Amino acid sequence: MQPQIVLLKEGTDTSQGKPQLISNINACQSIVDAVRTTLGPRGMDKLIVNSQGKATISNDGATIMKLLDIVHPAAKTLVDIAKSQDAEVGDGTTSVVLLAGEFLKQVKPFIEEGVHPRIVIKAIRKALQLCMEKINEMAVRIEKQSKEEQRTLLEKCAATAMSSKLIHQQKDFFSKIVVDAVLSLDELLPLNMIGIKKVAGGSLEESQLVSGVAFKKTFSYAGFEMAPKSYEKCKIALLNIELELKAERDNAEIRVDNVKEYQKVVDAEWQILYNKLAKIHESGANVVLSKLPIGDVATQYFADRNMFCAGRVPDEDLKRTMKACGGAVMTTANDIKPSVLGFCERFEERQVGGDRFNLFQGCPNAKTSTLILRGGAEQFLEETERSLHDAIMIVRRTIKHDSVVAGGGAIEMELSKVLRDYSRTIAGKEQLLIAAIAKGLEVIPRQLCDNAGFDATNILNKLRQKHAQGGQWFGVDITKEDISDNFEQCVWEPSIIKINALTAAAEAACMILSVDETIKSPKAGEPPMAGGGMGMGRGMGRPM
Ligand code: ADP
Ligand code: MG
Repeated sequence: MQPQIVLLKEGTDTSQGKPQLISNINACQSIVDAVRTTLGPRGMDKLIVNSQGKATISNDGATIMKLLDIVHPAAKTLVDIAKSQDAEVGDGTTSVVLLAGEFLKQVKPFIEEGVHPRIVIKAIRKALQLCMEKINEMAVRIEKQSKEEQRTLLEKCAATAMSSKLIHQQKDFFSKIVVDAVLSLDELLPLNMIGIKKVAGGSLEESQLVSGVAFKKTFSYAGFEMAPKSYEKCKIALLNIELELKAERDNAEIRVDNVKEYQKVVDAEWQILYNKLAKIHESGANVVLSKLPIGDVATQYFADRNMFCAGRVPDEDLKRTMKACGGAVMTTANDIKPSVLGFCERFEERQVGGDRFNLFQGCPNAKTSTLILRGGAEQFLEETERSLHDAIMIVRRTIKHDSVVAGGGAIEMELSKVLRDYSRTIAGKEQLLIAAIAKGLEVIPRQLCDNAGFDATNILNKLRQKHAQGGQWFGVDITKEDISDNFEQCVWEPSIIKINALTAAAEAACMILSVDETIKSPKAGEPPMAGGGMGMGRGMGRPM
């Protein structure tokens, strides 16, 4: 008889062994099922309502996964890879989840039959390596020489990224805008230099790109109407100063015994404000922007001197203006000199839909642009913003890596073929495993067909045949319910998306396969599980 050894706190939930692994794989499968139908140009969208009742409509894998609030520890891995794909390349978030899930699904029978997870992991790694080699070999590099050609290429990639989104009907319109926006940036292509503003109302085609900074007119006081609303070659003072008469009686206690003394206090306050205003005026600025409120006295003062002012400018807009127009954000009025002022060629206030916008164009320093989106419902605008974000990321990636592959399942079918060919040359368990992964890759074209309502088996057979005959760019043709050369059809995606998606999916699959035990501490404050004790779950492989 062995004495019972108490190792973990009472109430700790542990489960281990093969059943645990299978249960993790099953959990991932249910997540995949949740996003499966969103893939591709004919994918459906999800409407997710959170606990506060806020509804989001999205087609973006990463967004959906984030909102799903998944608690299963192993399945969370999939959420993480979707997020990392979103951060790293910005598109392909659904594909990455689908691939990881499908790899797991294909190797599950092997695990069930008792193949050691390490052998499976090794096979996945090997398959990944072969895929990377093949992608790099196949990717078509686009020469940078001609600006025209580069533009066309970028527009095609942007259009492919958008073709699966809510705004796919306007993809030609938006792909031009997106490419313009990205090309206006400097070499490092900083994403935060593209501002996106949403104005509800109007149609999508009324969206516009402002080369420069634009933001919504802020709250303004009386006197604002008199200020001029446009300047050429204007100097901009960027402030973090409150230009308002402070009601000091709220903050301080002052004892006065006659009216004269009280008047002095009031005068002093005015004097302080006027001194600040005078300094700003003397610096030669035409436009005054402040993060803090600019009150009515100040507004009137500036208007009298033909200056424009806006208070309560959002921090990010002020920063963008600073980066674009130069200058510095000042926190006191004492040091305002011409050298800390920003500069831009044109400033104007313009009506866009129901809102007035402040536009700064012709900024010398950083290159920046702002997209003003128009459209109906708020959810629609938000999804448009997310879709444009994908497209912008894709264009940036393509500029940096300038090599593309054909989408629509073409590259996946080709990789699948390569793996299958390789598997025939080796012996042992690895052969079956590599073939299983080859099958896993077919999930992308199959899902594209399923989502479009096509006969997937039929189309996949045609694709396998074409690829065996050397048609390496053949993929699903969404418009003809058939297959076609997707390179000629201009369904292009940067090869980096595929590289990243496959790597992340393989890594996630390996990670889930290498976990054989989950130990869950009891939640703080919760009573230990009834009848708990060590003997229960241990070694019984109880799924979580
Ligand atoms: P993800 O979040 O993975 O980017 P999407 O819903 O954007 O998911 O779908 C991307 C998939 O759709 C890619 O495999 C891409 O090749 C494919 N695709 C995009 N446009 C087309 C098209 N016009 N014809 C066929 N497939 C397309
Ligand atoms: Mg996409």
